[in-house]
Amino acid sequence: MSALFSEKTTPLTQLTSPIFAKYGVEVWVKRDDLNHPLIQGNKWHKLRLNIEAAQQQGKSQLLTFGGAFSNHIAATAVAAHAIEMESIGIIRGEELKEMPNRWSETLKHAHRMGMQFEFISRARYRQKNNLKYLQRLSEQYPNAYILPEGGSNSLAVAGFEQPVAQLMAQIPEWSHLFCAVGTGGTLAGLIKHTEQTIRQHAPHKTRFIYGIPVLKQGDSLRPIIQQWIGETGHVQWQLLTDYHFGGYAKTTPDLLAFKSEFEQQFAIPLDPVYTVKMVAAFYDQLQKGQIKAGSKVVLWHTGGLQGNLPPKQD
Ligand SMILES: *Cc1c(COP(=O)(O)O)cnc(C)c1O
Repeated sequence: MSALFSEKTTPLTQLTSPIFAKYGVEVWVKRDDLNHPLIQGNKWHKLRLNIEAAQQQGKSQLLTFGGAFSNHIAATAVAAHAIEMESIGIIRGEELKEMPNRWSETLKHAHRMGMQFEFISRARYRQKNNLKYLQRLSEQYPNAYILPEGGSNSLAVAGFEQPVAQLMAQIPEWSHLFCAVGTGGTLAGLIKHTEQTIRQHAPHKTRFIYGIPVLKQGDSLRPIIQQWIGETGHVQWQLLTDYHFGGYAKTTPDLLAFKSEFEQQFAIPLDPVYTVKMVAAFYDQLQKGQIKAGSKVVLWHTGGLQGNLPPKQD
């Protein structure tokens, strides 16, 4: 396997603040955003075993789906480039085809990494999990390994075994974990491997894992996540669906102010789409008395910081 996928332990950084002392909780950030210089955070774990599978199957291309601002599109393009595979992005929004000047930085970056685009209508895009459509795509691209939107599948979920093992070694007695949710693959991986580790050897104490959907209608993800994780006994998990702040990539002035305060106080950057909503959810739960004194809370930093780059002038 290429050096691209060598494993690295990312820092677990404790945050100190009067408000945490007031509520009697200890708080850490798992800096999983620092796991890889090119493919940051959760997208890297989700791709790792999928790329191994693609190579084992003798595929020469990675094909996947996303919107114009998808971190997964960028990550797939970068990974494919690094291991000399081709990449194909099926992108939502037909109108973008004729207007490369309106491409997002994400799309431009993916394009520079050699990703080939197919732009499709929103209606067509909704077929992305339809078996007949996928069958047609694999006939059209016989050398392609097809990854679902957001890269979430069972191999993506399995990719979180290593980061969970890291966390368990760094702080075996953690009690609460917060993680941002898009498609739910990352959350499922964290839950599944926490459950397995505790069952096998860690202290048998219930762990609470909270997923924070950044899209509206987060509840619809519950059965999908449930399918990936199977039975849980040692982990109690929940989706906190009231922290989408208007929906995907939407924000408010208060949330932006919160983001810069947090970044100044702790010198830890957040991204505006995912991690800021996760941290805001934690603070709100804390202030509502939902996290009892003595808790040891882990905020899982999933990365996504390329979203912070200012728009480039061309
Ligand atoms: C993609 C992404 C997520 C969501 O991951 P899912 O596995 O789709 O739930 C969370 N945080 C960041 C920074 C991301 O880029």
